[in-house]
Amino acid sequence: MDSLNNLISKEEQDFFHTYKRLSMIVERGEGCYLYTDKGEKILDMFGGLAVNSLGYNHPRINEAIEAQIKKYIHVSNFFYQEKQIALAEILLKFTGFSKVFFSNSGTESTEAAIKLIRKYFIGTGRKELVSFSGSFHGRTMGALSLTSRKKYRELYAPLLEGVAHLEFNSIKDLEENINENTAGIFIECIQGEGGVNFAASEFVNKINELKRKFEFIVVADEIQSGIGRTGKMHGFEHFGLEADIILLAKGIGGGLPLGAVLGSSRVENVFTYGDHGSTFGGNPVAAACGIVIFEELQNGMLNNNAVLGKYLMNSLKSIQSRNPEKITDVRGKGLMIGIQLSFPGQPVVEKLIKEGVLVNCTNENVIRLLPPYIITEKDIDMFTEKFESVISSGL
Ligand SMILES: *Cc1c(COP(=O)(O)O)cnc(C)c1O
Repeated sequence: MDSLNNLISKEEQDFFHTYKRLSMIVERGEGCYLYTDKGEKILDMFGGLAVNSLGYNHPRINEAIEAQIKKYIHVSNFFYQEKQIALAEILLKFTGFSKVFFSNSGTESTEAAIKLIRKYFIGTGRKELVSFSGSFHGRTMGALSLTSRKKYRELYAPLLEGVAHLEFNSIKDLEENINENTAGIFIECIQGEGGVNFAASEFVNKINELKRKFEFIVVADEIQSGIGRTGKMHGFEHFGLEADIILLAKGIGGGLPLGAVLGSSRVENVFTYGDHGSTFGGNPVAAACGIVIFEELQNGMLNNNAVLGKYLMNSLKSIQSRNPEKITDVRGKGLMIGIQLSFPGQPVVEKLIKEGVLVNCTNENVIRLLPPYIITEKDIDMFTEKFESVISSGL
């Protein structure tokens, strides 16, 4: 195998420099752990960015993949596909929603929802889309138009017209900007990239109230917080948001690319033949993995995510109480947790890697935890011990 330095220089030469990579070579993953070429064992508290729901080398995921690849790995959406249909039935059963469209990624799910909203209001002149500060909805041109961070958006004008970026949790902003021109509101009730920020319940109530008045479409972006991560099937269920559309991706394929858009009965007849499509969308191998994840969630894992999340949260709160000047807030639900520091988080990430723990830093100073659902109390204890020692050391 190439040495790390060799790979670094090839990457530097060959790639558009869109990613900052970690300085290590992963040889394999097992459970919640990554193993490097140097034999280091690293606890992955980041789960491939909320993707590896069941960790690495999970026997049931592997089995599902093997069984499906022996049948077919792709046949195109000209065909009825058993695994797609089985997964769709599960998704609808758990949400009470009415229709599914499968995509391959989060940004594609957002795009599909934008198109659905456009078509729903066709001929009415209603076009305005709303998203909130701190939000992330993807990076293709439509989804990017909704994503809040200016740094991601400003280089790519012109973006979609008629997008209002309102202040997250500002009721005043809702009251002043939402009206009969509003076509759709996109919201992450628990913001991921923005730093694990919760929607306030009065804010969600106000959206519900305005929706009854103006009848816009509400899109719950559950791409990061969905599929059981927060201890409920979808994050917005904690908040009582009256969503018409749910966006899914990341954890739904357990590591394979898959996304989904779910629509309530209100929007069930919007798309018809040819209105939208995707060559790869709903890949049967990925769908087979999605089925396994839901089976595991049903077999106690969903509740376990809530219980383990509380356990982790309690440990972090006591670490916070011992380091109040360094940790200003710990927040989250289930296995989606943000630890707000009073200083930049990247050095903490790097120190923790040296200690054998992988976490992520988002929004400058929020340490974000998105561990696989198979994490144990013992793993959590190891993490919190190392985290506390790094935090209490002179950074
Ligand atoms: C990651 C993410 C997206 C974009 O998903 P991709 O698969 O990277 O396109 C959109 N919304 C939220 C909330 C996300 O976390």
